[in-house]
Amino acid sequence: MPLVDSHGRTIRDLRISVTDRCNYRCVYCRTGEHGAQFAELTMPDYLRMARVFVSLGITKIRLTGGEPLLRNDLLELIRELAKLRTAEGKAPELALTTNGHLLAEMAAPLRQAGLTRVTISMDAVEPERFARITRVKGSYQAVLEGVRAARQAGLGPVKINCVLLRGFNEDQVEAFGRFARDEQVVVRFIEFMPLEEGRVWSPDVVVPLAEVLRRMQGFAPFHELAHEASSTARRYAFDDGRGEFGVIAPVSLPFCGACSRIRLTSDGKIRTCLFSLGEYDLHAAVREGRSDLELARIIEHAVAHKEARHHIGEPGFVQPGRTMVHIGG
Ligand code: SAM
Repeated sequence: MPLVDSHGRTIRDLRISVTDRCNYRCVYCRTGEHGAQFAELTMPDYLRMARVFVSLGITKIRLTGGEPLLRNDLLELIRELAKLRTAEGKAPELALTTNGHLLAEMAAPLRQAGLTRVTISMDAVEPERFARITRVKGSYQAVLEGVRAARQAGLGPVKINCVLLRGFNEDQVEAFGRFARDEQVVVRFIEFMPLEEGRVWSPDVVVPLAEVLRRMQGFAPFHELAHEASSTARRYAFDDGRGEFGVIAPVSLPFCGACSRIRLTSDGKIRTCLFSLGEYDLHAAVREGRSDLELARIIEHAVAHKEARHHIGEPGFVQPGRTMVHIGG
């Protein structure tokens, strides 16, 4: 029986944060004053919880953080996750979200370990702007090499996530259009969500989907592609057949009604929504030596209480205490 929540949504995608440490201090994510705040678990503990999730119908696992490549036992976890089998007898789809700084050397070993896809975060395609946003100097070239290594390793289609922030990088849209075509990657622009440590979010800083499309029209003609109901991204292809981009618009075009996701934080808490105000302590049950059946009951209980939707921009919206870098994006 798949996991179905009380709003009729089937939950198939699990995101596991394997650390809340990060080697970047992106202006819209971390203040730079705090480092890691939550515990990291052992790989066998993540694996055990993932196994129970998969036994309940999860078919896709994305590893994230913090920066997941900072864990030097990551390959071991991927190798073990790749041995799991869904109810259909298939290996789960294994994806990774990374800032790419350490990816150039890791791409081929990740593929060999069983990773199927990688998403790389890049908020600019100019070295100086990149440094201004990440607050790390000289990393752009390493990330570019990471993007190329990922493609070569067969971790494609490589997706690039770009969070647009007014005043920082909204004028990079056209440059990313060119980058998508030159580097043969799918660029996805993401609207900034109120999940940052510095509490700087306001509707004025969000660059909405409509503006991205307007800017891209100035670069090259494109048309919309069909997208899966549970997909977060609206997809577009350039008319000459070379290159694709997408827009993920949780603020101006929420997709909660089709959400198929559930999250496990680095300290082993289940979050049913990025904007959840509560969590379910699955790892406490692991520590207490509970059985797989008991873990399954905790997961089912959490899924049954998954929120209908987020309330960004509405009066009374409460920003969650745990922020993106600590939840796992
Ligand atoms: N370190 C990895 C990375 O950079 O991809 C994984 C973790 S990071 C938190 C995951 C994604 O969340 C990144 O693409 C990042 O740009 C995005 N992100 C962080 N804060 C965000 C926010 N407030 N709104 C929208 N996206 C955000």
